[in-house]
Amino acid sequence: MVKIIKDLIPKSNRNRPGNYMKPLYITVHNTANTDQGANALRHVNYVKNPNTATSWHYTVDDKVIYQHLPLNENGWHAGDGRGTGNMKSIGIEICENADGNFEKAVENAQWLIRQLMTEQGIPLANVVPHKRWSGKNCPRKLLNRWDSFKAGIATAHTSKKPTAKPTKAEPSKTTASKPAKKSYNLPNGILKVTKPLTKGAGVKAVQQALAAVYYYPDKGAKNNGIDGYYGPKTANAVKRFQLMHGLVADGIYGPKTKTKLEKLLK
Ligand SMILES: [Zn+2]
Repeated sequence: MVKIIKDLIPKSNRNRPGNYMKPLYITVHNTANTDQGANALRHVNYVKNPNTATSWHYTVDDKVIYQHLPLNENGWHAGDGRGTGNMKSIGIEICENADGNFEKAVENAQWLIRQLMTEQGIPLANVVPHKRWSGKNCPRKLLNRWDSFKAGIATAHTSKKPTAKPTKAEPSKTTASKPAKKSYNLPNGILKVTKPLTKGAGVKAVQQALAAVYYYPDKGAKNNGIDGYYGPKTANAVKRFQLMHGLVADGIYGPKTKTKLEKLLK
């Protein structure tokens, strides 16, 4: 959890055009401002200034996130005029102030992006660098590690990772980020929410496989909600998994979801 403070640009500002937007993309930026104190709050003051021409939706630093625009309004951040970047994407600026922890700010942004993807139904493929829209070298500190930045979106701030169990023979050889090798016996065919609910070992295998890659059916429930029933919460875990892995996010378990899960668990 990172605190998100809503502090919107006044409607009278020219950098709040108020065009209706249905966000299809998330565009990532770096502020390119390494000054001491150039944190998220500093950017609130900047973006709310009536003379500022540009605008975006969120600024993220190592401690807090500020929201500057509603998600159904466009901003001017992508450098593509009335193109898709400006008109259909959520703009996120990641601070790089000298007195901040950049890696922590990156992690906070990854967490925010994951929330937005789930909430807005935006697939991981549509999380893009500013460069995509205008060619600008932005986010300048992330372009050379873009793939790993995107991979981190799935795991940022998920503290409940399955603990690796090193074998006695090689105690130091732990693979922290990879789930332990295990065969899940994933079922063939289709699983979806039915009345009455579909239940059984196949459903349980799917739930266990999802949990192994951090998509828990119900994190607050007993055994993370792994109960062998294909209910709405399991469908939601499938949906989140599909979104993050470029599949049609319908919450229905089928051959493509199976293949993707198996590949990740190998
Ligand atoms: Zn940018």
